[in-house]
Amino acid sequence: MAAMSTPLRRILVTMMRMTVLASGSKGNSTVVSSSKTRILVDAGLSCRELMRRMVAAGEDPHSLDAIIITHEHADHVAGLPVMARKLNIPVYMTESTHRAWVRQVTPRKRLMSYAQWLEQRKAEMQQRDEELVQLQTRAATGELPDDHFFAASAEDTLPLEHISSAALEREAYQAGKLETAAADDLCEDADSAPVRRNINENPSFLPKLEHFKAGSHLCIGDIDVTPFTIPHDAADPCGFVFEAEGVRIGFATDLGYVPPNVKLALKRCDALLLESNHDLEMLRDGPYPWSVKQRVLSRVGHLSNTATAEFLTKDYDGGAAVVVLAHLSENNNHPEMALQAAREALGGHPSLLGNRLLLARQDAPLESVRF
Ligand SMILES: [Zn+2]
Ligand SMILES: [Zn+2]
Repeated sequence: MAAMSTPLRRILVTMMRMTVLASGSKGNSTVVSSSKTRILVDAGLSCRELMRRMVAAGEDPHSLDAIIITHEHADHVAGLPVMARKLNIPVYMTESTHRAWVRQVTPRKRLMSYAQWLEQRKAEMQQRDEELVQLQTRAATGELPDDHFFAASAEDTLPLEHISSAALEREAYQAGKLETAAADDLCEDADSAPVRRNINENPSFLPKLEHFKAGSHLCIGDIDVTPFTIPHDAADPCGFVFEAEGVRIGFATDLGYVPPNVKLALKRCDALLLESNHDLEMLRDGPYPWSVKQRVLSRVGHLSNTATAEFLTKDYDGGAAVVVLAHLSENNNHPEMALQAAREALGGHPSLLGNRLLLARQDAPLESVRF
């Protein structure tokens, strides 16, 4: 299909669509649709806001077939569980991303060491002993009727030192108070009985979960999805190529640099959504702490305008009718600077003059790109 001229392709195929709902460090989400299937790529705003933006952009939220997640950072998953449950649709994530996300959303029980727990138990038992003595005294003086007095169990009357540590540990595990009984283990298997029992309270509950692996194709309805690994500081971050009805749409945001596998994946795309996160000078001179600047600039951070321009100049094949610049930093970039850098990169390449350059926005959806 890539060899077919764009006008002919548009006559034959007109139903593939990409609608960026939001893009940037405060939330990312895009709808990719064929004539039969609609996928939400990331859910980085609240469910309510995602639905509002979908309606505003002419997309019906209730027609979504699935949600696919690039990585577990909050700006990509903030509305995920509520959205998936509300629409009762499957969520596609890699296993590592899912595990990281579960850890992220599961409230950690207030953990204590065994020694701390033992101290607490001693204090509790001492208090119970004192209450018992008081009751015995009151019963002996006739202050309480006989049937009000309760007999202490054998364990209650046994000095704490004589209770086996195994019994104490067993009790601690049952109470879920020791670190080794952390909720991570509980949520590893979404179908396990404990999770089913706690399904309503489980913040990581998803009605249907599908795992995928970077490098392995998967099909969601009639859309063929190719996930590829990207260099970013998350558990198992991915970019995607979505292909249906002869149209290829490439997604690559949240990456520290453009490695060879990404360059390869983004060949022959009809539309590209590409990160152009920051201006190098603005970031260096800007308000972020040095550690954050280092993180953004690192090989697992975000693509600068310069890095994106370099990709467009040297590695991009020029085949996309539309290039959308995405995930712009509000603090360390200006839309005009990102556009200018990409414009120069594309303009310097004679075969690329037909590219339409768009800027994804944080605060509002972008008009749908249609094929
Ligand atoms: Zn990220
Ligand atoms: Zn992000």
